Amino acid sequence: GQCASVCPTGALVVKSEREEVWEALQDESKTVIVQIAPAVRVAIGEEFGGKPGDIELGKLAAALRRLGFDKVFDTSFAADLTVMEETREFIARFKNNERLPIFTSCCPAWVKYAEQYHSDLLDNLSSCKSPQQMFGAVVKRFYAKELGIEPKDLIVVSLMPCSAKKFEARRKEFSHNGVRDVDYVLTTQEIARMIKEAGIIFDELEIESLDLPFGFATGAGVIFGATGGVAEAALRAAYEMLTDKTLEDVNFKAVRGMEGIKEATVNLNGTDVKIAVVHGLGNVKKLLKKIKSGEVEYHLVEVMACPGGCVGGAGQPFPNDTEARKERAAGIYRADRMLQIHKSQDSPVINEFYQKHLAKLSHDEIHHLLHTNYGNRRRIRGEEIHLTGSGLEEIS
Ligand code: SF4
Repeated sequence: GQCASVCPTGALVVKSEREEVWEALQDESKTVIVQIAPAVRVAIGEEFGGKPGDIELGKLAAALRRLGFDKVFDTSFAADLTVMEETREFIARFKNNERLPIFTSCCPAWVKYAEQYHSDLLDNLSSCKSPQQMFGAVVKRFYAKELGIEPKDLIVVSLMPCSAKKFEARRKEFSHNGVRDVDYVLTTQEIARMIKEAGIIFDELEIESLDLPFGFATGAGVIFGATGGVAEAALRAAYEMLTDKTLEDVNFKAVRGMEGIKEATVNLNGTDVKIAVVHGLGNVKKLLKKIKSGEVEYHLVEVMACPGGCVGGAGQPFPNDTEARKERAAGIYRADRMLQIHKSQDSPVINEFYQKHLAKLSHDEIHHLLHTNYGNRRRIRGEEIHLTGSGLEEIS
């Protein structure tokens, strides 16, 4: 339906790419891989009679293979990579007291909002690409090579909770020679529809595992799907990077839950790190006002445009209400608890990835691969068709 393709912020209406994905799946000259965002696994079951928060990664993997995807991977792998990069960036800036607070940058609706209305804050945004885009950049560069194919013949499909991710995948800076890092983005509702169209009986599928190496993730990479998750994942890394001690209790509960603006102060090696977590653009607006007036001060601010974070994205199944969001978030934290590894820095896949691929690159090359920059979109309005008639106008 039309609602499936409408962004929560009312900003973006993007056509479904289901047809393009069907075509790619049938095209023998293409290798088609899929990445599953954290929030999708705890919501997809709702489309097939399940409850919000049911973790259906196993059945989803089975369904995707039946649809013809060659490999089933996890955006949470790239979220682990984001944690590593973002935490290092945070620590460097924290130590130098430079461009604080750092704002997270993995929600493209927030990034676009900042570009349109708060260009004075753009230097404070983390330069990290989002997990979706890190995933695309990494597989097009390294995985295509490993398979011995051209990046254009490796089709990357993302399963995402929102349409803002479609807009993000189309940003110019995430294409090279006309080849996008992420070719197509499908929302949870859209992939459910494809599974139904293919006549697959989801409930009756036997669960399957994801593929290695990019199907391997830690709990830190999975909690990205709920509000507070990115901050918590970064804290799990920052604690160990700053203190050289092992973090025993990984649960930073102060940043969890559905309160619109959450605050926490965490003592890291004798210094207090002040964190704010905000979700829902109305709350974002309120918090930014307070930050700009100097009423509040933070070192790190996690921002998600959707209420509840990505579990509440507008491409998620209906009803997408507070109750469903809460249950999905609970599912996200259960998924974390079920995994053996809860810290991105402990992931063998991440560590091997740094050694095997990134160690050979220069600082600039790594920056180009995993980081990005932002532009004042007011100035470039004429070129950006996405901006006209945007619902974001109303809340500015
Ligand atoms: Fe998309 Fe919402 Fe998540 Fe932002 S918070 S990435 S708009 S689902």
